[in-house]
Amino acid sequence: MTTDLSSTSHYGWVAPSRDMLGSIGGTPLIRLTRASEETGCDIFGKAEFMNPGGSVKDRAALAIITDAEARGALPPGGVIVEGTAGNTGIGLTLVANARGYKSIIVMPETQSQEKIDFLRMIGADLRLVPAKPFKDPGNYVHVSRRIAEEGGYLWANQFDNVANREGHRHTTAQEIWRQTDGRVDAFTCACGTGGTLAGVALGLDDAAKASGSSRPQIVLADPEGSGLFGWIKSNDLSVSGSSITEGIGQSRVTANLENAPIDDAERIGDPEALEQVYSLLINEGLSVGGSSGINVAAAIRVARRLGPGHRIVTILCDGGARYQSKLFNPTFLRGKNLPVPYWLDK
Ligand code: PMP
Repeated sequence: MTTDLSSTSHYGWVAPSRDMLGSIGGTPLIRLTRASEETGCDIFGKAEFMNPGGSVKDRAALAIITDAEARGALPPGGVIVEGTAGNTGIGLTLVANARGYKSIIVMPETQSQEKIDFLRMIGADLRLVPAKPFKDPGNYVHVSRRIAEEGGYLWANQFDNVANREGHRHTTAQEIWRQTDGRVDAFTCACGTGGTLAGVALGLDDAAKASGSSRPQIVLADPEGSGLFGWIKSNDLSVSGSSITEGIGQSRVTANLENAPIDDAERIGDPEALEQVYSLLINEGLSVGGSSGINVAAAIRVARRLGPGHRIVTILCDGGARYQSKLFNPTFLRGKNLPVPYWLDK
């Protein structure tokens, strides 16, 4: 490829931050060599696994807490409650620790043991609940809302609190714009709350308008078992199938997703996502989780559709170590009829 990366690859110097919160965001944008070479495009991954809590959700946590403080909704020493697949709970707990708050984290018990252990390690008051669909009152989101209401605590409400997407709009999107000198043809991203996808889409749209250029194509990357692919393609939210990926897939249009400029969608199955997870690890030295695999697989599909010479950006949401007991465990993989990568197949 002919892209000149000299202005975007090495800053060489990073200003000191006042506290831990200043280390959230400002992540590298990494050219993914294999994916780029295979497609003749430049495919970049935003290294969100490098945030202090290890995922893209640190940004949402900081944005939600900062917004609550500004609204006077979080008194000194207050308590933040949230229902989460894990990463938001980790981000909220670390930000709460740094700002002198406490956290109560409600999580479905099906999430990885690594996230459960990490939440306990960092001091979250962790409440595991059985996995239930959103319409069931026992669903983790509803449990967290009730705990907040009953205790008079702050409910972070990441799905419908648009401080989440506004955080991405003003940080993630602007970083991508600067790191690419405003040359992005497409952006692909999976959805849990929709904060990342919608916030980056809106922020890239803001930046494109301000510079008089056209905005990149925005493409949802959706796992099996999520309703959003059908929603984008045919306004039909019905769900089929399932996925071993965590933190993504959605069966309703959250407030964060409302009116987001999303142009298209790709549905990615677990084998295709895992192929990217393993390739990124063994060929490029990048350890990422399943949602990153879905994002990169979607970026490759979009690159093939657009043709050589285009630039596609996606998100590397979190790190592989968070899923050692699942995505990198031969027994787990065989139990799901998924291929075991050769270096683990012993
Ligand atoms: N990937 C992972 C690993 C996550 O934990 C999440 C959030 N649950 C996402 C992607 C999706 O991010 P968002 O909530 O911004 O849609």
